Amino acid sequence: MNSGGWLSLSMRLSAALAIGLVVGLIFGVPWAGVATVLAIALGLQLLHLLRVLRWLQADQTELAPEQPGPWGHLIAMIVRLYRRKQFHKQRLLRLLRELRRSTAAMPDGVVVLNPQAEILWFNRTAARLLGFRGKTDFGLRIENLVRQPEFVRYLRGSQYATPVIVRSSVGTEQHLSLQIVPYGAGQLLVLVRDVTREARLEAMRKDFVANASHELRSPLTVISGYLETLAQDTEVDPALAGPLQEMRRQAQRMTSIVQDLIELSRLESSDSDAVGQPIDVVALMAQLRQDVLARPQHPAQVLVRADSHAMLLGEDIQIHSAFSNLVENAAKYTPPNGSVQIRWWTDDRGGHFSVTDTGIGIASEHIPRLTERFYRVDAGRSRATGGSGLGLAIVKHVLQRHGAQLSIESEEGQGSKFTCDFPRERLQIPVKEAVV
Ligand code: ADP
Repeated sequence: MNSGGWLSLSMRLSAALAIGLVVGLIFGVPWAGVATVLAIALGLQLLHLLRVLRWLQADQTELAPEQPGPWGHLIAMIVRLYRRKQFHKQRLLRLLRELRRSTAAMPDGVVVLNPQAEILWFNRTAARLLGFRGKTDFGLRIENLVRQPEFVRYLRGSQYATPVIVRSSVGTEQHLSLQIVPYGAGQLLVLVRDVTREARLEAMRKDFVANASHELRSPLTVISGYLETLAQDTEVDPALAGPLQEMRRQAQRMTSIVQDLIELSRLESSDSDAVGQPIDVVALMAQLRQDVLARPQHPAQVLVRADSHAMLLGEDIQIHSAFSNLVENAAKYTPPNGSVQIRWWTDDRGGHFSVTDTGIGIASEHIPRLTERFYRVDAGRSRATGGSGLGLAIVKHVLQRHGAQLSIESEEGQGSKFTCDFPRERLQIPVKEAVV
């Protein structure tokens, strides 16, 4: 085993002490001889220590001093440790440089924020897309530079699962997608993408649907008018009665699809929240019940349960349309011997409107997709009942504009429950109820 020079040092020291003792004995002062040798040995060690300390204090790239015994070993160990540290440092620096170079070259923008939302770092794409300027913007809070209200709201919230789309303040026609990804101890990464092309295509799609449905409305009205007249004309060949009846049914279906498309386009074209005019939900429920009972075929029991007289603050026509879509669906998909219950209640979370039926129900795999446009569990059955497949998409949009959520519970063959949950701010609670 390497003794690290201790053995030779102690042997040399023992020899020097022996010589010191002999010389001391010759002169009759043995302890003076030993003490002189010890003093010289101590002085030498102090000298070595001083040289090592000087070398450590100086730049360590300087050549290490040649030292004998344990001091040489100590220096060799320090040099080894220093080289290892240097090697790891270089490796980390290389890695960091690579990382910076790769993120800088990324087509997406990246901004790193600390928990106070102050900018720690951003790449070139982020600087170009968000108009950040070199080092002067480091340390600033991101809301001071990206001021779009949608982003500020998104940043202050905690729902970062989906990105927010904002209009760029650099290029007016540019649309940006900003997604926050939390990491580490409260730090945030903001991913920035230019989605101008997608936004333009989406706008074109919306415009196309809105224009096409508007254009289709007039010819359809004319066709439906003529079909009505022909159906009532006694001189028309009775053999044509069947086909005429079918043509009227199909024209009615087309009219309802076009109306739903126009309504959806109208809802989509407005980004702002719905205004708040008080809606008497209890009266609306009574009217919806009457509408169901007026259908040629309807479930035997249509119950209304109003546990609150709170008014709902929203857009009357839209709320009427959403609630009637839910009630009509319940009536359409529930057999005549079934029942439908319409309920309105409030609690500390807000107001809730639900429609429960004992109808055909929906298999669980379809539930997440029901609010997609034209999604139908059974297209044949939906068509037979005059459904357009747009009803629940309208409901979803209306609720979004009122800050509300739609929840669906259903079991195939057992029935379904559709609940609209409105926030408290959308309620106007009567004084009597509020006190209770
Ligand atoms: P539709 O006009 O076809 O009824 P919706 O968007 O209103 O379109 O509904 C989408 C689909 O959801 C329907 O086709 C139907 O399959 C299913 N659905 C909606 N409400 C109910 C319900 N109360 N019971 C059973 N199925 C329902």
